[in-house]
Amino acid sequence: MGKLSKQTISAQIGNKKCEKTGAVNMPLYFSTAYRHTDIGVGTGYDYTRTANPTRDVLEEALAELEDGQFGFATSSGMSATGLVFKRFKTGDHIISLQDLYGGTFRYFGTLERQYKIEFSYWNGKDISDLAGFLKANTKAIFIETPTNPLMQEVDIREVAEFASANHLLLIVDNTFYTPILQQPLNLGADIVIHSATKYLGGHNDILAGAVIVRNEELGAFYAAALNESGEVLSPFDSWLLIRGLKTLPLRMREHEKNAKRVVQFLREHPLIKEVKYPGQGGMISFYIEDVALISPLLRNVELFTFAESLGGVESLITYPATQTHADIPRELRESYGLTDELLRISVGIEDADDLVNDLKSALDLASKEAVRS
Ligand SMILES: *Cc1c(COP(=O)(O)O)cnc(C)c1O
Repeated sequence: MGKLSKQTISAQIGNKKCEKTGAVNMPLYFSTAYRHTDIGVGTGYDYTRTANPTRDVLEEALAELEDGQFGFATSSGMSATGLVFKRFKTGDHIISLQDLYGGTFRYFGTLERQYKIEFSYWNGKDISDLAGFLKANTKAIFIETPTNPLMQEVDIREVAEFASANHLLLIVDNTFYTPILQQPLNLGADIVIHSATKYLGGHNDILAGAVIVRNEELGAFYAAALNESGEVLSPFDSWLLIRGLKTLPLRMREHEKNAKRVVQFLREHPLIKEVKYPGQGGMISFYIEDVALISPLLRNVELFTFAESLGGVESLITYPATQTHADIPRELRESYGLTDELLRISVGIEDADDLVNDLKSALDLASKEAVRS
C-alpha cells in the first residue's frame, strides 16, 4: 500500500498493536514498572516516565499525522512549550509574534525576567521586517498560525526560508489548524507544538500537549529532556487522546462547515462590525458594535457556552480581553487590535442552523437589553 491518508491513519490508531490478544482498541497500560528477566534483558520498557506502551502508540500517531519522525505527548500544551524551550539558555534571543496565546506570552515574560532569555515580537505581516529583529544571539522563531485571537495567517514557508538562511530553529504552534489543515514540518518548520487539549483531543475532557520533530538530534534531545523532567501525558489521558484523534479529520470537516455558516451570518448582521476568519478551520473572531452588548450576549446564548477553550465538539464563546488574553497589558493588546469589542468563537459540531439561531436570538436580546440600560 502507498502512503495512507490522514483519515485512514487516524481511524486506525492503536489497531493491530497487541499480537497476543488481537485487541482492536489499544490497551491501556497503567503499569509504571516493567519486569526484566536478567540484567539488561527486558521488553524495552522499564519505567513509565521513560516510556509507556499506550503513550508510545499515541506518540507514533502524533508523529505520523504531522509527517514527523518523533512525537512527544506531554501533560499540557504549556508543558509542550516548556519542553521545547529547554533547548534555549540565558542570553539567547527568540523572535516571536505579537498576537500569541496569552499563556505563551506570560511564559515568555517569565523566561525573560528569570532566565534572561530575550524576546522580540513581530506583527506577523511583512516577512521583510524579520531581518530587523535579527541579533547575533537569535536562536529561533516561534509562531502560531493563524494567530490567536486575530486569525491572521502567517506564511510558514516564507518564515522557514528566513529561519534556515539564518540558522534559526522555526517552532510552530499548530493548535488551531491541526495536521489535517496544515503540516508545518512539510513547510520547513523544525518543531511543531500542540495544545492537544483543543482539536486533537476534541472533547473538552483532557489537558494534553504534543511536540513533534523530524530531525534525529532534536528527537534525541527532547526524549532525554522529557525523561529527565517527566511532564509526560498519563496513560489514561494518552488513551483518551488516541480515542479523540480517531475522529479528528471528520470533526475538522464539520467544524469548518459550521464555521463558514456562522461567518456568513455574522458578516450580514448589523451589530457585528468586522469578522476575522482565515477561510478555513473552526475558529472565528469578531468585533461587536458596542461593548455594552457583550455581557447581555454572553448571558443570552443558550447553545454556545461562555467558556475559555476551543477545539471541542461543543461550541464555545470566549471574551479574550478578560479570559485567554487577560495577562497582556491593555495598551499592548489594543495596539494590535485585541480590543474590548473582540469576541472569539470555537464552532462545534452541532447543527449549523441551531448555532446560527442561537446567536441570532442572543444578539436580538442583547440589543434590547442594551437599549433599556
Ligand atoms: C490552549 C493553548 C495553549 C496552551 O495549552 P494548554 O493545553 O492549555 O496548556 C497553547 N497554544 C495555543 C494556541 C492554545 O490555544
